[in-house]
Amino acid sequence: MARSRRGKKQRDPFVCPRCGTRVEEPVKTWTLVSPFPDKKGRITVTVMGSFRCPKCGYTWRAVIKKIKTEAAAPAAESEEEKREGEIIEIDLDDLDSIE
Ligand SMILES: [Zn+2]
Repeated sequence: MARSRRGKKQRDPFVCPRCGTRVEEPVKTWTLVSPFPDKKGRITVTVMGSFRCPKCGYTWRAVIKKIKTEAAAPAAESEEEKREGEIIEIDLDDLDSIE
């Protein structure tokens, strides 16, 4: 089994785009949360990483992974009543006093 062809052209975020050295782990990671949920009410959370090549010193950023998470949208959409887990209570009395 000596197949050199790869079907996927997906770039490995851990590999230096300049010299091809594979980095053990990102220097820094952070998450980007999409401001709007999709049609199914799910939020896409993108895990980003900044990398630094130990060989050539090149730095780059790449998407490590994307996670789709169930969003418990508090406003508008209430067709499905899935209330599992955390419930965030908002004190409406405080809002009334502002008006
Ligand atoms: Zn490099």
